[in-house]
Amino acid sequence: MTLRDRFWERYALDELTQEEWEALCDGCGQCCLLKFQDEDSGDLAILNLACTLLDIGSCRCSDYPNRFSKVPDCTQLTPALVGQFKWLPHSCAYRRLAEGRKLAGWHHLISGDRERVHRKGISVRSFAVPQDGVREEHYEDHIIAIIPIDD
Ligand code: SF4
Ligand code: SF4
Repeated sequence: MTLRDRFWERYALDELTQEEWEALCDGCGQCCLLKFQDEDSGDLAILNLACTLLDIGSCRCSDYPNRFSKVPDCTQLTPALVGQFKWLPHSCAYRRLAEGRKLAGWHHLISGDRERVHRKGISVRSFAVPQDGVREEHYEDHIIAIIPIDD
């Protein structure tokens, strides 16, 4: 994989190669938690339940190439969707760059350490629960945050 030197500082999101775009992900797994949007308020409820494909230990998708056929709700992040990145956590590298912020010091591209996102408690490794083991009528008990989404 060839990444241009400090590409995240030198190029806009829509100028990145596919490899650079993928390398931006900090591996927190937060976007792979179940979420539901209130149709009236627009508020987003985030659950501590992990998508069926999320490997909670590594916080990585266990079938990334086939994720859209297996999980139709999975959202593909692209530069074109940059205006909608507000549903992502504030810590997310894509959201940070889209908002003109810098990558965090714990990000693996800065620190060179992919475990720091876990040690800092940014990732879902320590608290996520597999969605498959929870019945839908109990989903409400698993809400961990309500996020207002302003249009
Ligand atoms: S929230 Fe952002 S940085 Fe974290 S896993 Fe999802 S895309 Fe990657
Ligand atoms: S399919 Fe993979 S990338 Fe998509 S939400 Fe599930 S675990 Fe995350």
